[in-house]
Amino acid sequence: MPANPIACSIPFDEDGKHNGFLRLPYSRDDSAWGSIMIPICVIKNGDGPTGLLTGGNHGDEYEGPVALQDLALNLQPDDVRGRVIIVPTVNHPAFKKAKRVSPIDDRNLNRVFPGKPDGTPTEKIADYFTNTLVPMCDFALDFHSGGKTLDFVPFASTHVLENKTQQAACVAAVKAFNAPYTMTLLEIDNAGMYDTEVEAQGKIFITTELGGGGTASAKTIAIAKRGVRNVLMHFGILAGSVDIQPSVFLDMPDMDCYTFSQNEGLIEPVKDLGDEVKRGDVVARIWSTERTGITPVDYYAGCDGILVSRHFPGLVQPGDCIAVVGTVAV
Ligand code: ZN
Repeated sequence: MPANPIACSIPFDEDGKHNGFLRLPYSRDDSAWGSIMIPICVIKNGDGPTGLLTGGNHGDEYEGPVALQDLALNLQPDDVRGRVIIVPTVNHPAFKKAKRVSPIDDRNLNRVFPGKPDGTPTEKIADYFTNTLVPMCDFALDFHSGGKTLDFVPFASTHVLENKTQQAACVAAVKAFNAPYTMTLLEIDNAGMYDTEVEAQGKIFITTELGGGGTASAKTIAIAKRGVRNVLMHFGILAGSVDIQPSVFLDMPDMDCYTFSQNEGLIEPVKDLGDEVKRGDVVARIWSTERTGITPVDYYAGCDGILVSRHFPGLVQPGDCIAVVGTVAV
């Protein structure tokens, strides 16, 4: 197996706080021997668990990058027992262009795991995480939001895992994050996801969907900043105990939770995020973009619950995810 060319400019095993870069060689027209410089901060103080904290896996999601910039600036080694590895913008080329996928190779980082050491730049980033950073960690927290095309109620989530001991540890960590909603997420297709790789390595994994629309709000950023510190407290890296506020627990028992568009058009949301819905309720209708006098196409909730996600732009195309319903867990 060829070696991964990414070099980290700072030490992982020295006490103190170090700010530096993951330098990924990338030869191109404007820089023959150039590199992609992915910011990284490592804060270490003695022995203890290692947390791997990431944002910008998709480049148009902002709560994670803001909360992790804040953490890297303000967290001091004396605050920490163990080690925190912070990468606020993992797919840095995508982040710089405000795109979900990399502008260099058009790859979606969260669909190329475990990656390739001799692949495209995005595949090399994935491989570095798979073989270098994830093995170092005890738990990983990967921030997501909806990006430009989806919007979510703010939730932290875990997945159903075969290893129930591992799943219980993930559930405890996601409860500690303490977002307003706590979700057991059913992925549309989990192949190639960072989540799947971290979980396959037996690590505790927490992810989020904290908002969307290609922006962030004061409210969702506050949830991210509080959540990451709560998780660090949960693992004993930060002192103190988590002040748990009420959270709505949600489940996604099957694919009926998802509603997909079969046509293109102008979308009329009929339900808003957080609204209660019943199976068969109209969640959105799609109007013609071409002429008047055409009855819109109704789209329905596939199960009872709460509208947790919706299509964000005003125009939809066939195959777009229009709505996601989470069932309220009892
Ligand atoms: Zn994402």
